[in-house]
Amino acid sequence: MTITPTPAESIAGSIAESIADLRRAVTGDVLVAGDDGYEQHSQGFNLALVQRPAVVVVAADTEDVARAVRFAADHELPLAVQATGHGTARVADGALLLVTSRLTGVQIDPQARTARIEAGAKFAAVLPAAQEHGLTPLLGSTTDVGAVGYTLGGGFGWLGRRYGLCSDSARSFELVTATGEVLVACAEENPEVFWALKGGGAGALGVVTSMVLELYPVTEVYAGNLLYPAFMARDVLRRYRDWVDGADERLTSSVVLMNFPPIDDVPEPLRGQSFVMVRGCWSGDLEEGAALVDEWRAWRPPVMDLFGPLPFSAADSISQDPVDPLPAMVTTECFDTLSDAAIDVLVQAAVPPPGRAPLLVFAEVRQMGGAVRAGAAQAANDLARQAEFVLEMVGMPVNAHVGLALEAHLRHTRAALAPHVTGATYLNFTEGQEKQERTASAFSAAHLARLQAVKAALDPHDRFSHGLYLRG
Ligand SMILES: Cc1cc2nc3c(=O)[nH]c(=O)nc-3n(C[C@H](O)[C@H](O)[C@H](O)COP(=O)(O)OP(=O)(O)OC[C@H]3O[C@@H](n4cnc5c(N)ncnc54)[C@H](O)[C@@H]3O)c2cc1C
Repeated sequence: MTITPTPAESIAGSIAESIADLRRAVTGDVLVAGDDGYEQHSQGFNLALVQRPAVVVVAADTEDVARAVRFAADHELPLAVQATGHGTARVADGALLLVTSRLTGVQIDPQARTARIEAGAKFAAVLPAAQEHGLTPLLGSTTDVGAVGYTLGGGFGWLGRRYGLCSDSARSFELVTATGEVLVACAEENPEVFWALKGGGAGALGVVTSMVLELYPVTEVYAGNLLYPAFMARDVLRRYRDWVDGADERLTSSVVLMNFPPIDDVPEPLRGQSFVMVRGCWSGDLEEGAALVDEWRAWRPPVMDLFGPLPFSAADSISQDPVDPLPAMVTTECFDTLSDAAIDVLVQAAVPPPGRAPLLVFAEVRQMGGAVRAGAAQAANDLARQAEFVLEMVGMPVNAHVGLALEAHLRHTRAALAPHVTGATYLNFTEGQEKQERTASAFSAAHLARLQAVKAALDPHDRFSHGLYLRG
């Protein structure tokens, strides 16, 4: 019997001697198929996206990153960058996968109100360190994502309408370019690269080895969820639309059509049940926040009231995102208004008829606007930021059969929503091939041209071909 090597194994086999040299040169790990750790480091958070890289380099420092990048150039290998794999674009099959997860340094400067964050650090390491000084970064729904990857894609979190996207808070990046050169991008140095990295360059322009973010003085919020029965979905969505119309920017909120999966990780009263949830975070005076949420309580008492004062250090409890890797299919749309017709499509797509299993785990509509829109014109991802609402739909392809059904369901739902959406894409809410296919729709034509020019100057041979698609 002959055993045919996989493409990843063939490529690695053809440059085996060079890989041995690379192994000696780097401080971190160099792994090929069959090595201990190869599977573990190739797999990102989304188990539905399986990667077979030719070589994995788990970098221990910036020098390792530069060596790996030069190695990829010498052997004409495409380069993919991964911190946690929460936002994998094109899978790294046959590529050199540069894993940053060991670059976890975080330094807070309380006087300057900044954090210097290395490429592999999660917000889970940044938030507690910042909170010790009464400060926070503009993190998203979970501290489990990589701070750098999140920021490169924009980064819309619970303080977003008040302070903007996390990319607005970036003060500088250190970047290893396709030639292995290290450059600083900030307002004074390489300003065009700096602009591109803030919302327009994830995985496509080089490897960010560290960044400096501004921090904000928030320690306590009024936040959480009100759960209503799923049969009230239409009424709750319409009321939500009216509730957030002209909302104060200290409120960032969403409405979620939620089908809690019937799995052990979900606590008993919620497990396997469907709800429509009003979710949010008020970062002003706590009594004012309570009064805002009281409007819902007075309208109809929720079946579960999980809104209240919350230390911002516990911000993860607002969305309670999963922390263990799982298979997921994700898609997104942007809206200027939530028409009754769009609401009908969403309810039909997400709320299962009685006795039927749902395909989606959730459909969440977050209100953008506020500081997100105010900063849109200057930001790289200008089109995505102009929307009033951003929708994220997520399902779990637990097997191939469900995967096919889910893919069709997401496609049909997007088609039904087409008359109601802006056509722009907030790229952090895409994964896999879709992230590349929809890259252009995040940017106005002028901004896309600027990004393509930065890409052409920094990476003319498209070595970084597994992130956003920025080739002209
Ligand atoms: C459960 C969950 C909750 C989320 N919540 C939010 C949210 O509230 N708001 C929001 O805006 N987004 C959210 N996201 C999206 C998430 O922020 C993006 O997917 C982000 O890109 C993840 O970054 P990462 O580094 O963890 O993931 P990775 O998959 O490792 O990286 C994501 C992308 O960034 C690139 N990248 C990563 N590190 C570097 C680097 N050092 N240099 C260059 N490129 C790099 C990668 O190549 C890839 O294209 C969520 C995602 C999940 C799965």
